[in-house]
Amino acid sequence: MSMINGFTAQDAARLSDTERRLVERRERLLGPAYRLFYERPLHTVRGEDVWLYDEQGRRYLDAYNNVASIGHCHPRVVEAMYRQSRQLNTHTRYLQEGILDYAEQLLGTFSADLERVMFTCTGSEANDLALRIARQYTGGAGVIITRFAYHGVTGDIAELSPSLGPAMVLPGHVRTVRAPDAYRLGAGNVASTFADDVRAAIEDMKAHGIRPAAILLDGIFSSDGVLPGPAGCIAEGIAAAQAAGMLYIADEVQPGFARTGLNLWGYSRHNVRPDIVTLGKPMGNGQPIAGIVGRADVVDHFGRNMRYFNTYGGNPVSCAAGKAVLDVIQEENLQQHAHDIGGYLLDGLTRLAQRHEIIGDVRGAGMFLGVELVSDRKTRQPAAEQARRVVNAMRENGVLISAAGPLENVLKIRPVLTFTREHADLLIQAVDVALGDVRL
Ligand code: PMP
Repeated sequence: MSMINGFTAQDAARLSDTERRLVERRERLLGPAYRLFYERPLHTVRGEDVWLYDEQGRRYLDAYNNVASIGHCHPRVVEAMYRQSRQLNTHTRYLQEGILDYAEQLLGTFSADLERVMFTCTGSEANDLALRIARQYTGGAGVIITRFAYHGVTGDIAELSPSLGPAMVLPGHVRTVRAPDAYRLGAGNVASTFADDVRAAIEDMKAHGIRPAAILLDGIFSSDGVLPGPAGCIAEGIAAAQAAGMLYIADEVQPGFARTGLNLWGYSRHNVRPDIVTLGKPMGNGQPIAGIVGRADVVDHFGRNMRYFNTYGGNPVSCAAGKAVLDVIQEENLQQHAHDIGGYLLDGLTRLAQRHEIIGDVRGAGMFLGVELVSDRKTRQPAAEQARRVVNAMRENGVLISAAGPLENVLKIRPVLTFTREHADLLIQAVDVALGDVRL
């Protein structure tokens, strides 16, 4: 095994006694539903900016974690949470200025027609709330999602997440459409395929007496295989859904908060107007805060009919964390940075495709990139086993990524937004070495 990031062959040895004990305790206490990353699980004890540290003090370049998106343990976020925790931590049923300051700042990043924000703790809850709002507003039940979507874990939302596995049987009110896969459908066909699929789904719902309520889409189609698609390619399909009375819920849990570069919100690339946007993961840089942003008439229709209280959603400490995250993104111009470094990464990874036949496609928007591995460029046969080996070889070399897509043959690369060119070079080198090292 080659050496990158200061790692030697011995570092790639078996589990330590401590790691073995932790794996055993975990299985005994948490049960089998929790899955660990990597064949040799990583025991992280500390994080700082782009780095995670294990118990031996080895550091790992984090090119996967889009929760601590502005950097692990960011001092501004830690300080904001500490100050607010010392002063007050209640909930949204008291008057408190922090939540309103944050709400104003957050809403200021959206177009003027999105005027309301409601807070939750997780992305799943945000999607669940958005779905309830859409169903109330439209009086319908039917939902359109992509074929390998992931939107979260509540009962209703798990049923909109076919990527949870074959045991997740979709209920009768759900229809799926193909995600905008330019590599497999052809860039020129993506927009019309998507729009045709949406129209067919609506017709089929109507034929079965199902009233359409919402189209729910991850703006980067992450679980479908990291599919940014050509800019604007989902606009026609979404317009068709909205014309049929459906609300468009833009799930920004993955692409939101500057990840896709230039714009703060991933859907902006597509020239569409969401009725509701759902937020999560990077919103508090690790502190649980999530929520929805929506049109006033839509959100108010729900609120007039039903009260809403989420004990921890929008609490003062979470809002302080959320505000610090937005401040850092805005002050450090991380959107531009994500665009620049993302472009640099895309170029570097695309160059690797000249030397590694197994790379079928390299794609991305900002700092959300996918490298699709295929065993044959002509047939585009997915190279899932090789992708698994690349991910694990990179982990042994101290660089963290994962794999996505229905067959998990797409290297999923989502670095901490503060990555520099040096970090990007390290990452590209690690992909290069892993592709060379694994017997393909
Ligand atoms: N939507 C998308 C697109 C996601 O990727 C996720 C989480 N991976 C969620 C929603 C759910 O978020 P959470 O895990 O915070 O419930």
